[in-house]
Formats: sequence, structure tokens, C-alpha cells
Amino acid sequence: MIFDCAIIGGGPAGLNAALVLGRARRKMVLFDDNKPRNAVTQESHGFITRDGVKPSEFREIAHRDIAKYPDVQFRPDKVTQVTKENEGEITFELVTEVGESYRARTIILATGLKEIFPSIPGIRDYYGKSIFSCPYCDGWELRNKPLVAITETEHAYRITKVVSNWSKDVILCTNGSDKLTPEQRQALKTKQISVYDQKIHSLAGANGLLKQIKFEDGSEILREGGFLAMPWKQATTIAESLGCEINTHLGIVTDVLGRTNIPGVYAAGDMSVNGPAQLINAAAEGSKAAIGVNTDLIEKEFI
Ligand SMILES: Cc1cc2nc3c(=O)[nH]c(=O)nc-3n(C[C@H](O)[C@H](O)[C@H](O)COP(=O)(O)OP(=O)(O)OC[C@H]3O[C@@H](n4cnc5c(N)ncnc54)[C@H](O)[C@@H]3O)c2cc1C
Repeated sequence: MIFDCAIIGGGPAGLNAALVLGRARRKMVLFDDNKPRNAVTQESHGFITRDGVKPSEFREIAHRDIAKYPDVQFRPDKVTQVTKENEGEITFELVTEVGESYRARTIILATGLKEIFPSIPGIRDYYGKSIFSCPYCDGWELRNKPLVAITETEHAYRITKVVSNWSKDVILCTNGSDKLTPEQRQALKTKQISVYDQKIHSLAGANGLLKQIKFEDGSEILREGGFLAMPWKQATTIAESLGCEINTHLGIVTDVLGRTNIPGVYAAGDMSVNGPAQLINAAAEGSKAAIGVNTDLIEKEFI
């Protein structure tokens, strides 16, 4: 059997793509190995009708929605390889970790991103509980608390400014990196935001709730939460192996309907980074990519 579409990745992007294609009567298969970016969090915010939902509950509801459509098949399996088979009527062969092989006329890549953590001992114990990645996702819960912005990146100034929208008690920890200009340092000083350039030795707290930051020079400061900005990478090398164009933010380049530069290959969600990384944006991109797939298949068939 040749599927109309194979979706790789079952986060909000892939799930919404599956819903739209299922409703478009397309025979499709959705692969997911259930390792989403937000797995560390207890609640997701900012998705209207689902504000505060547990990430696992979000998925359960989505799978119930998709199960209503008989042409959608789900495989809880990891795709390890995708190969383009023909140049004329293009098909793709997908191989999974358990050694199964599938064929599809189109592919939607929705495999997401992975963060590259700085080497701060114990930081993962706090990530998703009191230290988060995005103030729009978790800033409300941390409002008015003593907060820290931690980043070694060149976005330190911008990120600290954004965090200061949710609390006036903010510090910036650069963990030994020096990416601020003198003007930026002065602007932060004017706003009474202290910059700690010394390396972080460790974080103290309990059950993932931050209480204190200890520095290598022996100094320490009380903090109750914060935001960590770090670089990321694609969760898989599948897009790269297919020859998809990658932008300067390391996201896959697409048009408005998720089409990549490779015919038959579409991308959606965090991995195509066309805007803020949020569940609702990923779901919207999944919907658009599904419409891209269906539009292009209709064009091929309606001749
Ligand atoms: C700590 C944290 C908190 C967040 N909180 C919020 C929030 O409150 N609100 C909000 O809107 N956003 C939040 N986000 C952002 C949100 O999680 C992402 O924007 C969203 O998950 C992106 O969806 P996606 O479908 O692109 O990718 P993901 O959700 O990452 O899903 C990708 C899926 O693809 C699967 N996959 C990857 N490779 C393969 C493969 N080869 N084969 C099969 N499956 C594969 C993965 O296992 C995963 O299930 C948060 C992010 C983080 C890191």
C-alpha cells in the first residue's frame, strides 16, 4: 500500500496535520516516538480552550479526535530513515526503528527541536518546573517573583527585557559569556537589573523549585524561578538527509503551506521556526502543511 501522506512526529503540528488530512479523506500514517519538547512541563498555557492542560492530556484528546477518521493510521514508532524513490511520480520509503517499511506519496516532517543545554550542574532538575524557556508560556505563573534570565547567547539583552515584563525583580546570569555591549549593560543598570557574569556553580532548591543560585566565586543570590534561553538543533537529521533548505535559525524553510524546496516534502511546527515556538502555532502550521499536501495531490489527480 502507498499512503497519500506519512507524517513524522506527533506533537501538535503532526497531530493537527493528521486531523486535517483525515478529514480530507487521505490515507495516511502518523509516526510518533512520544518525546516532545515540552515533556518536562506539568501544564501548557496559551492555547485557547486548553489553557493549563497537561501535555499528556493534550495528546490524549488529540488522539481521540483523530481516531474518528478511518483513513488515519497511528504507529508509536520512530522513523529512522526516509528515502525518495522516484523522480516522476515521487514516492518515499520510510523505515522505522522496529524495522518496518512504509511507502507514501508525500511526507510531512513535524519532528520538532531539541535544546542544547549549557553546562550548569543540575539545571535540568529545574527546567519545566521553575525555570522555563518562554515567558509567554510560563511568565504568568512566575509573575512578580524574584526571577533570573540565564543565557550564554547574544540575545541576553532582549531576553532580559522581555522577562522584566512579568517581574520587576530580575537579574541576568551570563554564566561567563560576555555578549552584552556597554550600551546594553548601561540600559540594564538604569532599570536596576543586575548582571552576574561569574560562572554558576550550582542551583539550590527542592522538587524542581528554585531557591538559590550559587556562583563559582562563592557568592549567591535568592531566586524563585526564571527563564533559560539556549541554542537548539533539529530533533532529527531527516530533513537534512532529504536535502531540505535550512534557514539561519536552523529551521526548515517552507512556504505558507509548509512546502519545502523538495517536492513532496512538507514541514511544520517548531522545526520550521516561522514564528514564536508555541503549541498553537505548531498546530496551525500542521493544519497549513496538511492543506498544502492535499492541494498538491488534488492538482495531480484532477487532470
Ligand atoms: C519547557 C517548555 C515549556 C513549554 N510550554 C509551552 C506552553 O505552556 N505553551 C505553549 O504554547 N508552548 C509551550 N512550549 C513550546 C511547545 O512545546 C512547542 O512549541 C511545541 O511542542 C512544538 O510542537 P511540534 O509538534 O513542532 O513539536 P513537538 O511537540 O516537540 O513534537 C515533535 C514530536 O515528534 C516526535 N519525533 C521526533 N522525531 C521523530 C522520528 N524520527 N520518528 C517519530 N517521531 C519523531 C517526537 O517524539 C515528538 O513527539 C514549551 C516548550 C518547552 C521546552
